Amino acid sequence: MTHTTPETHADWQRLASQLHLETRAWIGQRHTDAQDGARLTTLNPATGEVLAEVVACDAPEADAAVRHARRAFEAGHWSRRPPAERKRTLLRLADLMAHHRHELALLDTLDMGKPITSALGDLDGAIGCIRYQAETIDKLYGEIAPTGEEHLGLVLREPLGVVAAIVPWNFPMMMTAWKIAPALAAGNSVILKPSEKSPLSALRLAALVAEAGVPDGVFQVLPGYGHTVGQALALSMDVDCLAFTGSTQVGKQLMQCAGRSNLKKVYLECGGKSPNVVFADCRDLDAVAAHAASAIFHNQGEVCIAGSRLLVDNRIRDALVERVVAAAEHMQPGDPLNPATAMGAMVDQAQYDRVMTYIRRGVEEGAHLCAGGQALDGPGLFIPPTIFNDVSADMTIAREEIFGPVLSIMGFDSEDEAIALANDSVYGLAAGLWSQDIDRIMRVTRRLRSGQVYVNNWAGSDMTMPFGGVKQSGNGRDKSYHSLEEYSELKAVWMALNVKA
Ligand code: NAD
Repeated sequence: MTHTTPETHADWQRLASQLHLETRAWIGQRHTDAQDGARLTTLNPATGEVLAEVVACDAPEADAAVRHARRAFEAGHWSRRPPAERKRTLLRLADLMAHHRHELALLDTLDMGKPITSALGDLDGAIGCIRYQAETIDKLYGEIAPTGEEHLGLVLREPLGVVAAIVPWNFPMMMTAWKIAPALAAGNSVILKPSEKSPLSALRLAALVAEAGVPDGVFQVLPGYGHTVGQALALSMDVDCLAFTGSTQVGKQLMQCAGRSNLKKVYLECGGKSPNVVFADCRDLDAVAAHAASAIFHNQGEVCIAGSRLLVDNRIRDALVERVVAAAEHMQPGDPLNPATAMGAMVDQAQYDRVMTYIRRGVEEGAHLCAGGQALDGPGLFIPPTIFNDVSADMTIAREEIFGPVLSIMGFDSEDEAIALANDSVYGLAAGLWSQDIDRIMRVTRRLRSGQVYVNNWAGSDMTMPFGGVKQSGNGRDKSYHSLEEYSELKAVWMALNVKA
């Protein structure tokens, strides 16, 4: 495909029509079909058209990939390669991804319906993540324990072995990078299982990883369903770690799989129902409204940290609701290939039906619908920003992760009530708070049970910050050098020294 910078809707449509789609698995440095010839269909949710018939891997492909991965790990061409050399290879990968940025972003947009401008942003995040972890790996030191002089205690950091990275469809390239960058940098062999709803960019990435010089068997891609190839990886006796991003329900199953097999490590990044808490002393209500709208409507609301519960001091609730409704007006869904589009299509029919069911539930349970609620006419799967006010804490739309463009607004009368409402969830992924009072900010921040807290912003972060949840939002940390710790093991070496001459 051409490398001129696409700027207009027509440019992106032209590029989309020129794309070559790789549909085969990548096992042992070869494009491969499934043993039984199975394929799965991936659709463009913005048009309903079939994009590709992609190989659907199952247990035989998982077994083959695990064998290749183990052999590669034991051979040491990557696992024992000096960190500075692994760094150079991964930096080459980042350069290759940057070179193919338009193509990779386009694959995600076509596959799962996000606006092309968001997909480009995701790609930049993914490339930045590869660069950060590459640059970090040759700057981490081991330890010498503070023992007496008769002994030398070394604490070495070693790769785990074979890592299976199982990722979702909402940020296909970014979630992939958050897993594979630290896992590869630390010296592991990685098997990537992309979502069956968005496998295309991962299959393209496989060729780039090979071109960058990552050796045979160190990186493989197995497209397919969770209950088939995903389960096979989860139950494998020779996978050392499951690095998972996805739903809490599947995360729980993976922990059971580890217990039923080889006690592999399980790092989970799961769901959320994040509270965005607005106090009456916030600085600028218009700015809060704009952030509150994009906190839930960005990426069609298909975001783990979506600010899906807006908790507002009752004294300013009417004023804020009015502004959030107005801000949402500017985020109506449209063709994801149009750079002016702020919101794209829901990923597939099942997700679309799920979101519409929650919207009906909100109305039935008595919440006040003040924007959206009606899907757009097809063939694309478009749901507009939907806002419910007067939501109470026991309503389904206040409790369950909808994973769509549906905002639930609740009021509070005191700081304690706000904190209690915010923490009243099985999830604990993200929380926002808006106030100008530094004492309140620190007081509330410490009491929020959440992996990350955004103060006077939503979702602000960079690669230096760890990302993950507490409670049923998971137990792992992506990003920052802390994620390298997830993919390595400590080895204690105790040396007896003869100190007497
Ligand atoms: P999902 O749990 O249905 O699927 C995630 C991945 O797991 C997919 O690759 C799927 O094929 C695989 N899978 C499904 N069942 C499996 C099984 N039995 N064994 C092994 N693998 C299996 O989630 P999804 O619908 O793809 O993504 C949406 C969910 O992901 C939401 O809950 C969202 O909050 C969460 N998410 C979390 C984060 C985070 O960082 N915390 C980021 C993005 C998405």
